[in-house]
Amino acid sequence: MPSPEPGKVRVRFAPSPTGFLHVGGVRTALYNWLFARGQKGTLILRIEDTDVERSTEEAVTAILDGLRWLRLDWDEGPDVGGPVGPYRQLGRDPLYREAAQRLLGEGKAYPCTCLPEELAARREAARSAKPAPPHLCPCRTAGPTPGRRQAIRFCVSGRGGVGWDDLVQGRIQVAADEIDDFIILRSDDRETPVYNFAAVVDDALMGITHVVRGADHIPNTPKQILLYQALGYPVPAFAHIPLVLGPDREKLSKRHGDVALQAYRDQGYLPDAMVNYLVRLGWAHGDQEVFTREELIRAFQLERVGASPGIFDRAKLDWLNAVHLRQTPPETLVDLLAPFWEAAGVDPKGVEARDRAWLAQAVPLFVERSKTLRELARSMAFLFAPPAARDPKAEAKFLTPDHLALLAEAHQALAETPDFSAGTLEAAVRRLAETRGRKLVDYAQPIRVALTGTTISPPIFPVLALLGRETVLDRLAQVLESQSN
Ligand code: GLU
Repeated sequence: MPSPEPGKVRVRFAPSPTGFLHVGGVRTALYNWLFARGQKGTLILRIEDTDVERSTEEAVTAILDGLRWLRLDWDEGPDVGGPVGPYRQLGRDPLYREAAQRLLGEGKAYPCTCLPEELAARREAARSAKPAPPHLCPCRTAGPTPGRRQAIRFCVSGRGGVGWDDLVQGRIQVAADEIDDFIILRSDDRETPVYNFAAVVDDALMGITHVVRGADHIPNTPKQILLYQALGYPVPAFAHIPLVLGPDREKLSKRHGDVALQAYRDQGYLPDAMVNYLVRLGWAHGDQEVFTREELIRAFQLERVGASPGIFDRAKLDWLNAVHLRQTPPETLVDLLAPFWEAAGVDPKGVEARDRAWLAQAVPLFVERSKTLRELARSMAFLFAPPAARDPKAEAKFLTPDHLALLAEAHQALAETPDFSAGTLEAAVRRLAETRGRKLVDYAQPIRVALTGTTISPPIFPVLALLGRETVLDRLAQVLESQSN
């Protein structure tokens, strides 16, 4: 690891790979990333995988994929020759052991041989005892019981209060006698370090200047500060960002709908929209809602993160995604749509058969009406093949025998136009309507339902122009034939 430059911001995102990547965790990553980028500092990704029972490689992959999808890059990793990987706690065990040995040697920690049931019994007794005993473990004074496996416990009591000026929450102060001596290395074969200990050793060795994480970690911070002090390390600044809640103000969970980042990617949300939405969930810059990445980097200030929780609002995310969709160049949307065709019932080969310029011309006609890439792909499906099914209500209303007669007239008028541009087509159908004493819409709706299967579609004449004379006339003829039988 390169040695940290003095005065330079160094932050980390330190997820535990025990499940999917939660959108709340993503917001923590994002605040770290924005802070690092805005301050021209360094962001470290550290996978906290010391809990081997609960950690999985699948979860590591989900974290890496998610961050890469959002283009949240990190700057440093172990030198394994190749692209920068994340740091992983597993494998750093000797560092935790060394730090624990140092505390033992200095009398700041002690071996503990208490059995879980003994600790539970003492905890129970302490509940009713007045005043409460200073610590639960007799090993501190009586020494370990010979023949038993040893854990290492950190001495807390007698250290007075502990507090910090949280960059988001303000001053937080805890009396140290509220904290019991706690285990730092477990008694298992691997001498697994507990989260609080491994995190402190790593944050110190990695030169972390600001710990930016979820407010659910506030109860851990006093213990961590005591550990920094005992180990003789500088205490970093802390910023505990409020949790993301559901509309019922409970912690955002599966009960509220999708919480895994992956679900949003699969539904066709754009990375920039996700980033924009999650940053605004708990941070404001005047009344601006829509930000580019560059604007966010420039405007973001950790101190401006609000101390009250953000409420996840799907409707607002949908709105922002629609805004970002409209801001994305059509050529880019063509690329982004690629994974969505199949689920929209479109044969990807049919898409490949079209040239990119044609697709890029089509996209702007549809993007106005779509909230996600998935919706966009679905709304464009009829371009590649006649709709597999038509909306029965639309059919009952606009493909009656009377309408089919109008459709046949329209078919003829469209067949006779000198060119197949939107303007020419509209003028031709308008003329037809006038000569028959009808309205334009009397012809336009049956055409729309026949071609798209619904009454909702972009302006129909540009769609006809896009499809081209042959396709339009063929498909209308097919509808006329099948409906009149
Ligand atoms: N591994 C911890 C978590 O995922 C990280 C906490 C921290 O940032 O210190 O919650």
